[in-house]
Amino acid sequence: MEKKILVTRSSMPPFEEYADEIKDLWESRWLTNFGKKHRQLTEELTAYLGVKNLQLTVNGHMALELALTAMGLEKGSEVITTPFTFASTTHAIVRNGLVPVFCDIRPDDCTLDASKLESLITDRTSAILPVHVYGNICDTDAIEKVAKKHGLRVIYDAAHTFGETYRNEGVGNFGDASIFSFHATKVYNTIEGGAVCYKDGAFGRRLYELVDFGIADEETVTGVGSNAKFNEFTAAMGLCNLRHVDDEIAKRKRVVERYRERLSGIKGLHLNPVQKDVKSNYAYFPVFFDPAEFGKNRDTVMDELAGAGIGARKYFYPLTSDFDCYKGVLPHGRTPVADEKASTVLTLPLYADLTLSDTDRICDIITG
Ligand SMILES: *Cc1c(COP(=O)(O)O)cnc(C)c1O
Repeated sequence: MEKKILVTRSSMPPFEEYADEIKDLWESRWLTNFGKKHRQLTEELTAYLGVKNLQLTVNGHMALELALTAMGLEKGSEVITTPFTFASTTHAIVRNGLVPVFCDIRPDDCTLDASKLESLITDRTSAILPVHVYGNICDTDAIEKVAKKHGLRVIYDAAHTFGETYRNEGVGNFGDASIFSFHATKVYNTIEGGAVCYKDGAFGRRLYELVDFGIADEETVTGVGSNAKFNEFTAAMGLCNLRHVDDEIAKRKRVVERYRERLSGIKGLHLNPVQKDVKSNYAYFPVFFDPAEFGKNRDTVMDELAGAGIGARKYFYPLTSDFDCYKGVLPHGRTPVADEKASTVLTLPLYADLTLSDTDRICDIITG
């Protein structure tokens, strides 16, 4: 059997570079709680992402959960979101005592369909939580327009869009806040990690305290916070990986271009379009199979790839609205486009060091 290809492979700096970066921690003995590397990484990421403010967190999920908390949305109010996402998005809403209301997605890029928003707004709606899924940028103009008209907050789940720009603007600048994930499997990783980007200083202060148990100062605890602090070893990994991320993205681009070359224009096989005015990070490569036209369904292709030692993923299946934990608990909503996408999607292996010959081998199996 040929060598196994997993769906992703984490980026790591040369070992010596990381060893060098952590050396001074043996001197300082400052391992966590907003240390020197935390500060440096905050500055470097703020500049790299082109955002006004950035708060590092222990992971992307806590970034989202605590950003929602810091918004101070009324308990029990409704947050309009999509079910075509990772578990984290919906869980963050529910864990805040808020109610997710599921909006359908657009058929071309799988982001929230803003034309369906107004029909879902009630007097209990407090916010919109769209997802820049696969690195596809949402229709930010249309979402902002609806949000403004109805006085709603907007928090973007930007976990997939590290380093992307839309009309030359860093993607973390849209909405009241945007969250990133630096999980090991993402384009840029700090092993585990995440960040909230925001503009409003008072929100930032609340968020900073919530990340550290709600502690405002030594004798004052103002919020029922959590512990979502980012440690110095993780910050060191972040500093190293940031030096290489542009190279990593360039390498991913080669793979994505090869996939597009090989898989475009095939009957019954649908790709997300290349978005106009977007500088992509080439995070994921989803393919959608129409079995009637293509001749094979998604599960068959997945089995064929698995038989050759190649891991592809049904990312995102099932929809979060179909999770066992939400059965009979949440209103399901009607999301026919999301249903269809979830049952036909396969995301193909994609990482910086995937060779073009392996990419070809994957395409041969799909089209064979
Ligand atoms: C990865 C991811 C998250 C959560 O990030 P973690 O760093 O894994 O906690 C949230 N939303 C989406 C869409 C993700 O892909």
